[in-house]
Amino acid sequence: MDAEVVMIPYPAQGRINPAAAFAESLALHGLRVTLTTTISLSETATFHHSSITIHPLSDGHEQVTQPETLEAYLARLKANLSRSLAAFLDECGQVKAVIYDSAMPWVLDIAHERGLLGATFFTQPCSVTAVYYHLGQGLLRFPHNQDSTVNLPALPPLRPHHLPLFAHLDEPRITLDLVAHQFDNLERADWIFFNSFYKLESQVLDWMARIWPVKTVGPTYLLLQKSKRSVSNHIINLFESKQDEACQKWLDAKGSGSVVYVSFGSLASLQKEQMEELAHGLAMSNCPFLWVVRASEMDKIKNLDLEKGLVVEWCHQPHVLAHSAVACFLSHCGWNSTLEALSHGVPLVAMAREYDQPTNAMFVEDVWGFGIGVRAGEDGIVSREEIAMRVKQVVEGDEGIELKKNASKWKSLAHEAVEQGGTSATNIDEFVSAQRKIE
Ligand code: UDP
Repeated sequence: MDAEVVMIPYPAQGRINPAAAFAESLALHGLRVTLTTTISLSETATFHHSSITIHPLSDGHEQVTQPETLEAYLARLKANLSRSLAAFLDECGQVKAVIYDSAMPWVLDIAHERGLLGATFFTQPCSVTAVYYHLGQGLLRFPHNQDSTVNLPALPPLRPHHLPLFAHLDEPRITLDLVAHQFDNLERADWIFFNSFYKLESQVLDWMARIWPVKTVGPTYLLLQKSKRSVSNHIINLFESKQDEACQKWLDAKGSGSVVYVSFGSLASLQKEQMEELAHGLAMSNCPFLWVVRASEMDKIKNLDLEKGLVVEWCHQPHVLAHSAVACFLSHCGWNSTLEALSHGVPLVAMAREYDQPTNAMFVEDVWGFGIGVRAGEDGIVSREEIAMRVKQVVEGDEGIELKKNASKWKSLAHEAVEQGGTSATNIDEFVSAQRKIE
């Protein structure tokens, strides 16, 4: 294998997409780039043509006979990937740098032991990373009082419901450990990359720059969109999108700026009751809607009236967001979805669930001003009335005009960052030149 740079994403759709886009951009700069996947994922994934080489590594999945806890999964991933990655790097011979997902800091030692540069890649916002850092250092405790405020350097005051949410996950402690470990050896990393751009998070980036030499390279999504080969989809899809043509036709038949696109990403699972409220809320908004409901969630919407909408198990989100019929995106505010909406100037109705999403949603609404958040009731469920009202506010209301204006502003700033001479483009150029200088 003839690779100069090896990119190692954490094996989840939301981590693979930005890594593959970043890898593609490096390849288009003339570097030979290999992106690793796991054998188990590559058996079912679909791959789109790109300039990178994709190489599956063993994550030990074949030994798994029973459902695993997250803790067991992470231990297996580390043990097996460490071994298979080390063997792969030894086989490659010419590798200069390894870029790894920030959730797998142990890759740095594997790189350094072989005299290679190690670069960590954060696929979450800088602001959320700053929150995780303070959590990891024991400098932040989740407040119990809902009226209190958390003040952290370079961030706006955060209310408890704006903080990353782990409480209701099956294994909150393990998830917290995972985010805290991202900083374990950060001071030894040769490069620190973020899928963000300077003007979006300038304050927190200036603060971070005092501690670490951080480089923004995003939105990586736009690097992909700008690639000369015009890769118009994500390079690796872990879910099958069977209804692309139907989706396209359905959108083509709708008026400009009329459709609500609804997706909660690749992981979130909503309660049945919440899915029902969502279906009713969308119907009450009177807007046509395109709703992604993954196969594993489909049972929850059986027997509901979905007449005004098209429901698909997965779609080419880049195509959908680029379509002129789309007026707004009702999103869980996963970081990729947030950046992709912003890159297309599409305003959000923010319905955050867990992890970094509540913080992202707060920034979307209060700091960047291109979306509006839904408010949940005391039982944690967002009612149909609330959903219908927020959708209408964005699609029809005066507020919607302002949100759209802000979305367009962020769209141009995002494009500016990845254009030649832009902050993200310059950081990528710097990394590429540094690689070229290595013998
Ligand atoms: N996505 C897609 N098709 C869909 C739904 C989502 O291609 O039908 C992609 C989307 O474009 C994004 C990723 O899946 O790049 C989801 O990442 P995000 O960070 O938004 O959420 P996560 O899945 O990590 O919760």
